[in-house]
Parts: sequence; structure tokens; C-alpha cells
Amino acid sequence: MKVNKWFKVAALATTIGLGACMVTGCGKSSSASENSDTITFMFRGAEDEKKAYQAAIDEFEKKENVKVKVIATDAGQYSTKLQAAISGGKTPDVFYVEQGSVMAYADNGVLKDITKYVEKSDFDLDNIWEYGVNSYRYDGKQIGKGAIYGLPKDVGPFALGYNKDMFKAAGVDLPDPDKPYTWDEFVDVCKKLTRDSNGDGKLDQWATGFNVQWSLPSFVWSNGGDWANEAKDKVTIDTPEFTEALQFMADLQNVYKVTPSVSDSQTLDTYQRWMNGEIAFFPVGPWDMSTYDKLDFEYDLIPWPAGKTGKSAAYIGSLGIGVSNATKNPEKSAKLVEYLCASKECQQQLVDAKVQIPNLKDMAEKWASDTTTMPNNKKEFLDIVNDYGRALPGANTYNPEWYDEFWINIQPVLDGKKTAADYVKEVQPKMQEKLDAINQQKATAK
Ligand code: CA
Repeated sequence: MKVNKWFKVAALATTIGLGACMVTGCGKSSSASENSDTITFMFRGAEDEKKAYQAAIDEFEKKENVKVKVIATDAGQYSTKLQAAISGGKTPDVFYVEQGSVMAYADNGVLKDITKYVEKSDFDLDNIWEYGVNSYRYDGKQIGKGAIYGLPKDVGPFALGYNKDMFKAAGVDLPDPDKPYTWDEFVDVCKKLTRDSNGDGKLDQWATGFNVQWSLPSFVWSNGGDWANEAKDKVTIDTPEFTEALQFMADLQNVYKVTPSVSDSQTLDTYQRWMNGEIAFFPVGPWDMSTYDKLDFEYDLIPWPAGKTGKSAAYIGSLGIGVSNATKNPEKSAKLVEYLCASKECQQQLVDAKVQIPNLKDMAEKWASDTTTMPNNKKEFLDIVNDYGRALPGANTYNPEWYDEFWINIQPVLDGKKTAADYVKEVQPKMQEKLDAINQQKATAK
């Protein structure tokens, strides 16, 4: 199964992060770099990403006459290794920071407030996606305003993709990139695309096969539901809007039968089936573009189907880069953050490597206007960033454990063995209890 870059990893990181800080007192950590001509930079990524970053860092070293010691980890190991470094008093000078870790890391003195460095530097903060910048602002109460504790290395809009060739082969009209399907329309199209295309009596292509964790937020939000209220003190999964969306996702498999069956999924997961050209609709993040370039069918992006609100919704992730509070070289460390997040040269290298969308608005507009390369409708990514994307519910609370709880026992709903209505009733109190505890922790940390 393809690992979504932000989802699981982010959840895990903050959970561990907060616990370890409370035990050891992260604020007392010292710097990993002993001499001030060297900056330590810790990050994670796939091979093509690591290569792109190394090239950017080589440039930075030359430009700034400073040595950068790079610690690159695989995505799955990053949070554990970072936490070990923090607990061991070897916090890297510069490191990737999850949206969900900002509050705890700021309160515990792990992250440096870099506002004054950012403000006196010569790049244009307004030219970086507001969603990205605001994800690392914290005023001591909430995320979104106040001091700058990092800059976004990227934003990750999670769009819906479709296999164009499959539509053409089935004689189905291509989706309208400017008008989302209603749920009814979506089911109709899904039924047409779930077929036995070679006539051997067995289905060999399916409309979809969404991973519930990545896709349910879109269905819930576009139906007017959410996991919590705006103040983030009440769990709201037991509303009709929410319940209906969860049931709809389960029904795609159990009632409408437009996804591979449980046994089909066991032989090959839906990500592989999408790559093989057996699935019509599948989510696409910017980080998928380098891989999907090599697919032997044409794919493109569309807005997610719209529920009761009549509007699409999608989740958008981000990863930030921050500076250690214990760094001996704050000036150069902040410069490295600015270089990686905001310099044209660096952004161009990353965009050419097809590992992300441009962080800079003007560059992104130009990039999206090129409709000759896949995906043609790159604009959908920008629409999510500008218009309808939202952070995951667990990303802006002190830690995401309450949100993680939602997914733990969800399988029977997806298998049709439990109704969504029964499930939300059962899990709401458990989540509420965790959210209350988290809000209490936050109050105590002040
Ligand atoms: Ca067949």
C-alpha cells in the first residue's frame, strides 16, 4: 500500500513528540552541531526527493559559505529518529516539522520563533501559499496566526484522479473538471465503469477503491459534517451529515459493488490496481506525479464528488521546516529554511523532479497553465490550495490521538457488518474523552 506522506506519519510523530517532551523537557536540549560553521539538517523522503534536496543544499553551501550536514531518513523512521535526537539533546539545527507538532514543539521550547529572520529577509512571504505559512504560525493559543515557527516546505493538495482511457473504452462521457459529480451521478458513473471488459464472466475493472482514511474527509466535509466543532472541544461525528457520508463510502463496496471485493483486494491492493489500469477513480497527490508519469494510460484530475453542500472538499497536508531553539547558528539556519521553502532556484529543482507543486504562487500559476503535460488539469491542485482544501482534523489539535481513535475499529463498517450510525454512537464518547484529555494537556503546558 502506498504510504501517504502526511497521514500516518504525522499522527505518530506528534503523539510520540508530546509524550517525550513531557518526560525529558525538550526545551533543555542542546544543538547537534558543535561548531557554528556547520548546520545540521534532518529530513525525510523518497529517493527522488532526497536527490532533489541534496542538489539544492549543495547550492546553498556554495552561496552561503556554510557546511550543511545532512541527515536523511526514510519516511517511516523520521519521527522516531527526530524524537531520539531531541530527547538526547542533539536536536538538528534545521528539521522537518509536522503541522500537528507545532504547538507542542513551540510550547516546549524545541522550535525557535524565526519571525524576525523571516521578516528581514528579502523573499516575499505573500508569494507563498497562505495555507502553508499559516500552518506554522502559533500565537500560544492556536495555529494560524502569531509567531512564525517554520515555513512550509510544500503544501499537499489531495485531488481526485481518473483514468481517461478507461472512460473512453467504456464509452462514458469524461467528467467535467469544473463541475463535481453529485453522489448520485457518481454512483451511476461508477456502475458503468465496473465491468467485465473481456467477457470471461469475471469483473476485471472497477470504478474505485478508496482508502477510507484518505478519502472519507472529502465525503464528510462536502456533506456538511466534520470530526469536531470549530473550537475543537466537541467531537461531532454523530451528526446525520457525518453518518451519511461514512455510510455512503461503505455502500460503494457493499451496496453499489463498484469496488474490488474483499477477496479481490487481498490478491492486489487498489493502488496497484489503479497503476495497472484496473481502477477508474483514485486519489492523486503531487508527490505521485513522478510515478504516475510512467503509467501506460492517461490520467487527469477532477474535483471530488459533492455531497449535500453542493461543493467539493479535499484535504490538504503540509510539511514544514523549522529551526531548533538550541541552534548556535540561528541566522544561517533560518536562511536555509528560507532557501529550501522560498528560493526560486530550489523550488524549480523540486518542481522539475515532480515531487511537489511550487510553493511560490507566481511559479505555480505558470506551472498549472501548462496543460500539455500530465495531469492536464493541474489547476485542480491549486484550487484545493486556494479554495477548498482543509487540514486534517487531527492536525490542529495539541495531539491527534482523539482523531486516530476514529479509525481503529472502523473495519466492520466498511465490510457492511456494522452501520455507520451504530459506529459513530459507539466511538464518539471514546473520542470525546481523548479530546478532553488533550485540551487539558494543552492547558497544563501553558
Ligand atoms: Ca473479465
